[in-house]
Amino acid sequence: MQGLMQDYPLTIVAIFDRAEKLFPDKSVITSTATGILERSYAEWADRTRRLGGVLNTLGVSKDGRVATFGWNTSNHLELYFAAPNTGRILHTLNIRLFAEQLTYIANHAEDEVVFVDRSLTGLLWPLLDTFVTVRHVIVMDDGRGEVPDSAPHGIQIHDYEVLLAAEQPVGFHVEDEWRAASMCYTSGTTGNPKGVVYSHRSTYLHTMGALMADGLGARETDRIMPVVPMFHANAWGLAHAGVAAGADLVLPGPDMSPTALATLIETQRVTIAAGVPTIWMGVLPELKGRDISALRTIPCGGSAVPRALSEAYREQTGMPILQAWGMTETSPVISVAHVKSTLANATEDERADMRATIGRPIFGSEIRVVDPVTLEPVPADRKTQGELQAAGGWVAKSYYNDDRSPESFTEDGWLRTGDVATTDEHGYARIVDRTKDVVKSGGEWISTVELENEIMAHPKVAEAAVIGIPHPRWDERPLACVVAKEGEEVSKAEILSFLEGKIAKWWMPDDVVFVDEVPKTSVGKFSKRTLREKFQGYVLPTA
Ligand code: ADP
Repeated sequence: MQGLMQDYPLTIVAIFDRAEKLFPDKSVITSTATGILERSYAEWADRTRRLGGVLNTLGVSKDGRVATFGWNTSNHLELYFAAPNTGRILHTLNIRLFAEQLTYIANHAEDEVVFVDRSLTGLLWPLLDTFVTVRHVIVMDDGRGEVPDSAPHGIQIHDYEVLLAAEQPVGFHVEDEWRAASMCYTSGTTGNPKGVVYSHRSTYLHTMGALMADGLGARETDRIMPVVPMFHANAWGLAHAGVAAGADLVLPGPDMSPTALATLIETQRVTIAAGVPTIWMGVLPELKGRDISALRTIPCGGSAVPRALSEAYREQTGMPILQAWGMTETSPVISVAHVKSTLANATEDERADMRATIGRPIFGSEIRVVDPVTLEPVPADRKTQGELQAAGGWVAKSYYNDDRSPESFTEDGWLRTGDVATTDEHGYARIVDRTKDVVKSGGEWISTVELENEIMAHPKVAEAAVIGIPHPRWDERPLACVVAKEGEEVSKAEILSFLEGKIAKWWMPDDVVFVDEVPKTSVGKFSKRTLREKFQGYVLPTA
């Protein structure tokens, strides 16, 4: 017997309609080069519908890829909805990727149009010549930058506001929830970026996950600031969740300096602010003495959240960081480190340990830690390492037109994340490392994440990244690259003695070098690849 319930398509149109109907008076606030721009959801919805008309007028094909090259702004939020709601596919280009990767991505996705912030035309224009399918570039005026007079191979240049003004609002209809809605490429930490294609349904389900109290817990009363870029993994779902909840959105625009972010948190009464660990490392000192009483949660992920950072937030603001884990392939948020109620009586220290894990999966998704070959679960003993794998309604089942798909998915359909993890009796997973970053020493693995965590707990250390250096006897040995806090001096001996007793003896870095800064990837993660290149041929001291 079949159920007798309605076939209600789970689409981004439904998210949009809800906000338009129920929350016209809520706001989308953008920090621009020329000041704060506030638009009501009513205004945003009207502009989004007219933008749908623009896409029709420009002749973007039925499932044409609509690329964006922009900051977190309300214009970008219009594109987030106008493209999928007219059946097209939003393709957010990561403005910080290398030129060759951007060319690869735009051509691989076959982008037809690119919407670019005026302040980013200088970055985009030199690439246009290599974008073979692009026919139109639409410039969104964000107060800075030049608009060149011409573009290569007949690409037409338009002004966003002029196009919008010429259109009438259009109706949005998407019946098939499985239809592609948007695409995003992985940031290419390893090899060429891979394309992930989200459906309306997966976006809808991921939005529900972000709204759940034990997910990111976004609600109508929130003022949400996604510092995580809208060009990276859907701004962690907060752009959709904010609209679905009817929350106010505070979009930081191009200035993501710690002072600017701290000022927005204070003046805009932000309640949820989400970003990668390097963002929150910078912002913490800036929060001193400010009124941040509205702030209630700081979701953070993308790379391991140092325990010391989370604890520093707890001590200074009363609020530890809320660690989340995910990947472009998982929409991205899958697991969140809320401390389980049965652990309420645990000591603050034990609770801090739980918060330093990636937590447990949000309802609607699953993770497992298994032997990568047999797919047997590893014992939940916090020690045995396995591959972290993911499944669920918002997890990719293959990459877009990419022959690397088979190796990334198991026979039973789970995503191989490439992360090494352990798990415990409560189901909390701990990331040991990415397979490519782990230090393989004498047949055993050393977790660079854990070493970094311990080193970054040193009061004089600002940042630390550990990489494996080839070793004739052990295969690889750890090298710690350390950045001292401003105005502080710290020695190799101090770091090594600080680690004593905290880690297994054979994990002790063979050397500690001091660097001015740990190189970052396009989305602000520690770039181990760059570090490995920098220290290629480095000779470790002999013991
Ligand atoms: P890229 O693979 O290019 O970095 P993604 O942004 O999709 O692109 O990154 C996903 C990866 O980020 C995960 O596989 C994992 O290694 C890492 N990651 C995300 N969140 C966390 C976290 N909370 N702790 C440790 N690693 C994390």
